[in-house]
Amino acid sequence: MSDYVNVNGTCHCGRIQISGKVYEDMVIACHCTDCQQFSGAPFRPVAIIKNEDIKIDGEVTEYTKVADSGNERVQGFCGNCGCQIYARATDKSVFNVRTGFLDQHHKLTPKKHIFGQSKVAWIETISEAKWHVAGPESNEMKP
Ligand SMILES: [Zn+2]
Ligand SMILES: [Zn+2]
Repeated sequence: MSDYVNVNGTCHCGRIQISGKVYEDMVIACHCTDCQQFSGAPFRPVAIIKNEDIKIDGEVTEYTKVADSGNERVQGFCGNCGCQIYARATDKSVFNVRTGFLDQHHKLTPKKHIFGQSKVAWIETISEAKWHVAGPESNEMKP
């Protein structure tokens, strides 16, 4: 078993709190088209957490997405602020938690890229764009 990180986080408005245990080799970057569409981002970093290692407080709104194969995938988010919380298996055995709202997200480096077949065409070269400290008129920086 790899090392794990104790994580905690809340959605933007604070109605949902999550805490749990993330094994370092269970963090992935998902480039599937669902992740791109739901998040508006090129990929979503995800921590795969078993039911017994996660605690969820607050009411998570869920949307069940049915794949062409018939497989169901439940997408959980905050119904108030819209923060994306997880995708889960229908039997609640495993939660794929979105790492962006976790306080420890800088430590949760993805160990794998999945669904590389649908990665955006510019993902490997995005670092070549200019970096600014804050908004587009702020100072440039080296990443
Ligand atoms: Zn919220
Ligand atoms: Zn995905």
